[in-house]
Amino acid sequence: MDEIQRELLDIVTQVRTHLEYQRALGVRVIAVPSSVAPLSHSAPKIDASPSTPPVTNQKVIKAVPLSARGDDGRTSSVHPETLASIREELGECVRCKLHKGRKTIVFGEGDAEAKLVFVGEGPGFEEDQQGRPFVGAAGQLLTDIIEKGMRNKRAEVYICNIVKCRPPGNRNPEPDEVAACIGFVKQQIAVIRPQVIVTLGNVPTQNLLNTKEGITRMRGKWQVYEGIPVMPTFHPSYLLRSPGEKGNVWEDIKLVMKKLGLSIPSKESDS
Ligand code: SF4
Repeated sequence: MDEIQRELLDIVTQVRTHLEYQRALGVRVIAVPSSVAPLSHSAPKIDASPSTPPVTNQKVIKAVPLSARGDDGRTSSVHPETLASIREELGECVRCKLHKGRKTIVFGEGDAEAKLVFVGEGPGFEEDQQGRPFVGAAGQLLTDIIEKGMRNKRAEVYICNIVKCRPPGNRNPEPDEVAACIGFVKQQIAVIRPQVIVTLGNVPTQNLLNTKEGITRMRGKWQVYEGIPVMPTFHPSYLLRSPGEKGNVWEDIKLVMKKLGLSIPSKESDS
């Protein structure tokens, strides 16, 4: 094998690795930018699963930018069709080592057309047991924020996490675990297309917004993910340990309510 052949083999290997990674994230078709000449006039797309025969009973996921569905200019490289199709793609996931200790995959729950999505870091013990996000003590606090503070029903928002399996001992998910799982929450957001996202704590804030800035500095300041306003705030489990921070979280939530056009309780509206 000469040097050119070795380089070609190296390129093919890299492309294959990338396509397999995209396939693991649920991507089935990758659009080729118009500036890249197709290898064939009849082949404008690259199948992300070249070694897999077509599945005839599964809808093809088209790489249509989100802006094609609306007029708000949002774009995304991933556009699955439904939350159910994402859950189906997730399957009994073993893409990272967190699968070894889980009882249940905690996919997320709520309104598929919610205007507001909360993103936490990962399931805890109760969530792992029940297969539902935010159902322990911290979950009750989040429910209180939604129902008593925002005066909305929990079922009317959508709640999910950056990783869908419980990290052992409730530790933070590690970078390789986040890398394996984050594509799914991004797809969930792409389907729901909320008006606002609230990230709860460091892990979702840093990973969704691609920053190393800590939550203490980030909270209360609007950010943007894929054209969607993002409000970082403290995780409810932190509030259980530091109840003095509840006031700061309420300030952040009031900003969210204003952005959503929700009325703020009169005694609070001037603050
Ligand atoms: S955390 Fe995510 S990527 Fe890892 S096994 Fe669970 S579902 Fe799969």
